[in-house]
Parts: sequence; structure tokens; C-alpha cells
Amino acid sequence: MALDTLDLSVLAVVAILLAAYFTRGTLWGNSDDGVTVARGSSRDLIEVISANEKKALVLFGSQTGTSEDYSHKFAKEFQSRFSIPTMCGDLADYDYENLNEIFTSVDGFQLIVFLMATYGEGEPPDNAVEFFDYLENECEDLSTVKFSCFGLGNSTYEFYNAMGKRTVSTLTEKGATLIGELGLGDDGRGTMDEDYMAWKDGLFDVLKDKLSLKEHDLVYEPGIKVEESSLTVLSPEVSLGEPDSKYVNPSEDDLKSHKLGPFDHTHPYLAPITASKELFNSETRHCVHAEFDLSDSNLKYSTGDHLAIWPSNSNEEVAKLLDILGLSDKKDIVIKISSLDPTVHPHVSSPSTYESVIRHYLEISGPVSRQFVGSVAQFAPTEEAKALASKLGKDKELFHKEVTAKYLNISDLLHVLSNGAKWTTVPFEFVIESIAHLQPRYYSISSSSMSEKQTVHVTAVVEQERYPNVDKVVTGVATNLLLNIQQAQNKVSDSKLPVTYDLAGPRNKFEKFKLPVHVRRSTFKLPSNPATPIICIGPGTGVAPFRGFIREKVKQVENGSNVGKAVLFFGCRNSNEDFLYKDEWVDYSKKLGDKFELVTAFSRETAKKVYVQDKMLEKASEINQALNDGAFFYVCGDAARMARDVQSVLIKIFVAERKVTEEVATDMVKNLRVLNRYQEDVW
Ligand code: FAD
Repeated sequence: MALDTLDLSVLAVVAILLAAYFTRGTLWGNSDDGVTVARGSSRDLIEVISANEKKALVLFGSQTGTSEDYSHKFAKEFQSRFSIPTMCGDLADYDYENLNEIFTSVDGFQLIVFLMATYGEGEPPDNAVEFFDYLENECEDLSTVKFSCFGLGNSTYEFYNAMGKRTVSTLTEKGATLIGELGLGDDGRGTMDEDYMAWKDGLFDVLKDKLSLKEHDLVYEPGIKVEESSLTVLSPEVSLGEPDSKYVNPSEDDLKSHKLGPFDHTHPYLAPITASKELFNSETRHCVHAEFDLSDSNLKYSTGDHLAIWPSNSNEEVAKLLDILGLSDKKDIVIKISSLDPTVHPHVSSPSTYESVIRHYLEISGPVSRQFVGSVAQFAPTEEAKALASKLGKDKELFHKEVTAKYLNISDLLHVLSNGAKWTTVPFEFVIESIAHLQPRYYSISSSSMSEKQTVHVTAVVEQERYPNVDKVVTGVATNLLLNIQQAQNKVSDSKLPVTYDLAGPRNKFEKFKLPVHVRRSTFKLPSNPATPIICIGPGTGVAPFRGFIREKVKQVENGSNVGKAVLFFGCRNSNEDFLYKDEWVDYSKKLGDKFELVTAFSRETAKKVYVQDKMLEKASEINQALNDGAFFYVCGDAARMARDVQSVLIKIFVAERKVTEEVATDMVKNLRVLNRYQEDVW
């Protein structure tokens, strides 16, 4: 009997489904670029949820990856504690027209949880823009939706956790029901982890009550599978930490894309650092100026944008973690990492090696979370280690005293817990899934796209802290990598480097000082009319984008433009130690004449500390006059205190100069922000 077209297509679908069923975990294991077959195959939420038999959904709005990491953590724990199959998804991956039908169409569907970061001046992260657009402009009814929400924000910013709050208000306005309370994670106070834990534990209690969910002990259920392979590090298909699959064993097309891009947060450009130098004059503190050459790519930037640098971990930290996990002898063994769940994306190229995964994909040097300690307890090599880990996981104060205050990272902690005994029983799946993935670091570009079209400059202060009673130098990953490159490039022999790096990179691809980078557009921009005056407040490395602004002004003058005056307030400790680009400003002054004024504040040169805020007050009438004349006001640098203080000082200036109340002055500053004449680039 002949089969008609319909029969054939039905058979084909059945065959695909059967194949998918019997090859679970391999067929939809992550392909080289980390994208699973099911994930991304449809933008229809109900289709994906139903096909994967999920009963709860965690959606993240994430700019730098933190919210994404918390979402995966939450989805895993929720699934494990309540035996509810939970899917974690990127807000940008789906359409939301049928959001209100999920609860009625998917049998037994329980809850949607949003983890929502706030970006910049209270804006949604890039991946959440369309979601909010739909919610606010098209969506009419969400009355069947039950949801919970945790916002990730920073209380030093004016619009603290604006997007978490907006998620709750918009959804409830459309009739959705909020379960539990909105959680507010605060990076500004450094309490994100504890805020998350408190919200999550509170929510679990509410869920047990409101949704009658039964809670189980937390047992690790892997979402991925790690298998050792017979391939070797010489096998061309093995990733040794290349930034993405296009750099491993590249095809002709990939080679073309190495120049053409597009380069973005998933595919960085391997940019040569053509020049670098030390900017500080100090034995113990460093600041690196580095110039990235983009001329062999079609990457473009404009003045005020950010450069994202993709770091890798130091030799010392990689060796420490391999050692305590008992993996030092196996570091070069090739492992295949596949997904057991088509909706889980391991974020790690496969096949790879134990060492490459640890060096290039995992955030191993930073602070460790209390949740990690609690969950690693189940794999402890000794009963004592298990008891101590469980205790630390439960006791916030003890954890703070014994872990946070001692600046322990993951390997330090494992070492302390087990007294040096190796943690050979920790599944590598757990290591990959429980440790946050290594994120690019952002830098305000300190060059001008008008004067340096194809070169991007960054100005990075090196994170090295020496604390009393802590027997290590606490180091930042990316800035110490830049310091290593700067010293190697300039042949500085400095035996005092606290950490060293594999500068040649995977298969020597980073040789001659290359690093993976991408450009992130920013809204921190000069006025479109060069004649508009500007006031820039940039202490420390906050001066970075203003160097770009001033270089642009110099170029504009050379091109015959009429430029407005630029006043730059710069502050540092000491004019001989950390006065960034000290000689360059003299040069710019010569070229710009009375169109440029540098106002300096040195905090450690006089008995009374002097900051840029003090200098602003000294120049109150000039600042007020310039703003009356239409000047733009810019602030860059430390978000924690400086940016807020600067705003308060400007309010004070308005009160004094314009003879208005504090309330009116505050509104004037707000108004400047609305008009985009008060811009911040703070971190
Ligand atoms: P990380 O590895 O990220 O460490 C962060 C901090 O944690 C460090 O202080 C480190 O000492 C500390 N730490 C490490 N281990 C532990 C531990 N176990 N326990 C507790 N603490 C620990 N920076 C600049 O210098 N110049 C710029 O122009 C600039 N522009 C920026 C623009 C934007 C938009 C943003 C968001 C940030 C900007 N930054 C800038 C900051 C920059 O992105 C990095 O955060 C900074 O350089 C530190 O990166 P790192 O990898 O060296 O440190």
C-alpha cells in the first residue's frame, strides 16, 4: 500500500520523537556552540514546556549573567525540593502571546518565577526589552498566571531594582497573582547572595502552604552528563578553552567570520593588544592602560561605549582547584559534556578537558556562596568535612566569620573544610552546574572613535588587596591578567606578581598578546552639538571615558569645529602616585586652550582630605552658570558613594546659587536627567 504525503510526514515526526526519546541526553546534547536541539527550536512557550513535560518555569532578564546564574540555581533547587520538572529560559528566547494560557493548557503547571536584573538607569536588560514591550503595550489579560519574582539591583543607583518592581506591578495590573513577596537583591551592599537565599527560603515556605507542595531533602540531580573520552588534547575537535566553537578547528566560513564577525556577547573578537603601559607610580598599586587593535575586524565603537574583556583564570587558582578536587593528574583528559535535559544549556564547550573547563569557563576565584557550601556537603570526603559544610551552609553568621571575612574562594574553602583531604567524590557535573560561569568584565573605553577609529583604549585599576590576618593577596581575575600582559609586553621583570596566567591561550591562539573582546553600546554620549559645554566628574578610573571625550574635543578642534568648554574634575590620592594620564592633560590643554579646564583633588596631600565633591563646591557658581548655559553633566566611576555624593553636591549648588529649596533643586537635577543632560557611567 502506497503511503501518501500526510502519512509520510506523520511517520517522520514519530521517527524523530522515538529517536529523541531513545537517545535522550545524546541527540539533544549540546552541540559545539552550546545550543541544544530542543532549546531555541521554538519560540512558543507552551510548545516547549509541553514537549519537555515541565510544570514550572523560571525566566531571567540578565545583562551580565548574574541573574542567569541565579535562575539556573533556582530552577535546579526548586525541581529537586518539590519534584516539579522546571524549565529555565532566557526571556529573549520566547514569545508571550500565550502566557495566560500556560496554566490552563499545561496540565499540573504550577508557577512562573522571574529573576529580573535592572540595568543602567533603571532599564531592562537587553534580553528583556521585548518582553516588557509586549507586557506594557499588547498584553491584556494574565488572570490565570501565578508568579514570583526576585529582582537583582544595586541600592547605590537611583532606580534601585526598578525592573523587579516593574515586573510585579505590570503583571499584577494585568491580573496575575504574585506568590510570596518580591525579593530585592542588593549588589550595592554586597548582600545579593544572602538576599537571594532569604527570598528563596521564604518563597519555599509560602509555596508549601499556598500550592500545597511537598518538600524533600535537597539531593543533587545532574542536568548534564560528563563522560571521559578517548580523544586527546591533540584531537582537533577538542576545545581547550577557545572563546567559542568557531575558534576550535575553524571551517573556511569560521575563518572568514574571524574577521567579519558579527562579534557580540556570544562570539568575541581575538583582539591584539598593540601597546600597554603602567599608569601608576607605586610599588604596590597598579593601573593598566591597554590598547586593543580592532583594524582586522569589522568591530566598531563610538566614544563612551564599553569594551568587554573575556578573562581566564590564573595558573595558581586553576592548579589549586584541580588539586583539591583530586584532578591534577587527570587535567588533560578529554571530557564530553552533554545535556540530559534539552532545556539545559551547559555553557561549556564540548569536548573539552578538566583543566580547560576550570580555566576558561568557571568563576573560581571570587567569593563563595553559602548555598554552595550547603550543597557541596553531600560530597564531602570525610564526616567532619560534611558536618562542617552543613553547619556553615545553615549558619549565616558563622559563614560570614569563617568564609566571607577570610576571603575564601571555592578551593580555599574545600581545603579548609576537609583539612586538605581531596574531594574526589564531587561529580564534575556538580562543579560545572554549581559554580557560576566566568563572565566578561566591562571597561569604559578611554579612547575616542573620532581620533582612534580602530583602536580601543582601556584604563583598568588592578584589583589586589592585602588584608590583615589574610594570608593571600585577594586578586581580581581580569585586571591581574591585564597586568601580566602589560608586564610581559614591556618586559618588566616583576617577581611580585601575586598570580600568573597562560598568556598564550588555547593552542597558542592568544599569542602576541591577544584577548577575546566585544563592544557594548552605551548611552553615555557627548552632546551631538560640539559647541555644547560639558562638565565631567571622573575620579580614579572614572576618568576613563572623559579621556575619550577630551581626545574627541581635540580632534573636533583640529577639524575646525567650534567646541564648547569642557571642565574635568579628577581626583586621586596623590599627584605623584596615581594621577592618571598626568602628562596627557598638559598636552590637551595646549591644544584646547581655554576650552579645557582640569580641576584636581588629591585626597592624601593635605591634612584634610580633598575630593572632587569639595572642588565642585569651590566652583559652584561656574558649574551653575555652565548648566544655565545648556552644559551637559557627566559622572563616571564609583557607584557606591561617589556618584550619590556628586548628585547631593549638585543639589546643594543649585540651592545656594539659584536660591531655591532643596526639593526644587532635587527636581532640577531630575529634570536634567530626563533631558539626558545628566548622564552616569558608574559601576
Ligand atoms: P573580579 O575577579 O571580578 O573581582 C572583583 C572583586 O572581588 C575584586 O576587588 C577582587 O579583589 C575581589 N575578590 C576576589 N576574590 C575574592 C574573594 N575570594 N572574596 C572576596 N572578594 C574577592 N574598572 C576599571 O578599572 N576601569 C574602567 O574603566 C571600568 N569601567 C567599567 C564600566 C562598567 C559599565 C562596569 C560595569 C564596570 C567597569 N569597571 C571598570 C569594573 C570592571 O568591570 C571590573 O569589575 C574590575 O576591573 C574588576 O575585575 P576583575 O576581574 O579584576 O575582578
